[in-house]
Amino acid sequence: MSTLEIKDLHVSVKTEDGPKEILKGVTLTIADGETHAIMGPNGSGKSTLAYSIAGHPKYTVTGGTVTLDGDDVLAMSVDERARAGLFLAMQYPVEVPGVSVSNFLRTAKTAIDGEAPKLRHWVKDVNKALQDLNLDPTFGQRSVNEGFSGGEKKRHEIAQLELLNPKIAVLDETDSGLDIDALKIVSEGVNRFRAQEGKGVLLITHYTRILRYITPDQVHVFVDGKIADQGGPELADQLEAEGYDKYLTKTTV
Ligand code: ADP
Ligand code: MG
Ligand code: MG
Repeated sequence: MSTLEIKDLHVSVKTEDGPKEILKGVTLTIADGETHAIMGPNGSGKSTLAYSIAGHPKYTVTGGTVTLDGDDVLAMSVDERARAGLFLAMQYPVEVPGVSVSNFLRTAKTAIDGEAPKLRHWVKDVNKALQDLNLDPTFGQRSVNEGFSGGEKKRHEIAQLELLNPKIAVLDETDSGLDIDALKIVSEGVNRFRAQEGKGVLLITHYTRILRYITPDQVHVFVDGKIADQGGPELADQLEAEGYDKYLTKTTV
């Protein structure tokens, strides 16, 4: 089972001028096995939501709750959240010079499982994950994200997703900067993940393009730190045709 429940979440970010409220009451439930898409204009707070779920220290929760299968996520450290089954693929993955992809993946897997994976299976799993994402086997020897192309960064995030196999995956603009072939490869990876029993996905995106390959159960329109509208996959088609204008006008009136 894996249900992520976000209720009336308020989050502020620390800025030089003091705290600034970014999330203004977000309520959203990803029930067992569901994929939800969050779509919204730049600066609406989508990444803030992702970071708040993952526990980034820059963001302060000032109200509301987040639970995973009933457990209080906000009371957990970043590590505890990962061990509980939450995974975040960041919009801008960070470079870790001097740490190879293989070592990084093995360290992350060991931290999450509480024991090192058996070497023989692990090597096989890593090679398969890289191959499935059309990454060269030598990719494992490269420093994490250093000199990676945009597409390699995103495919590496999906390799992590497949190997760490969390309960809930939060994917922040995993589609940005991908050409059509890479977009298909990344989408297939996400679809393999969600084909497993009880896996939840929160797919954050600015564009509807990825939703042609990953059909969400629900679409939420995110504007100015709040959900402005929600519906089925057809809402994405409507956004594709009409853009975010009508929501923006509504909030500025
Ligand atoms: P999105 O992902 O939808 O583009 P973000 O969550 O990145 O939106 O940002 C939402 C708003 O919060 C923006 O106005 C942004 O400038 C502000 N913001 C986010 N993170 C920070 C930060 N660390 N410091 C200052 N402002 C921030
Ligand atoms: Mg943005
Ligand atoms: Mg963002």
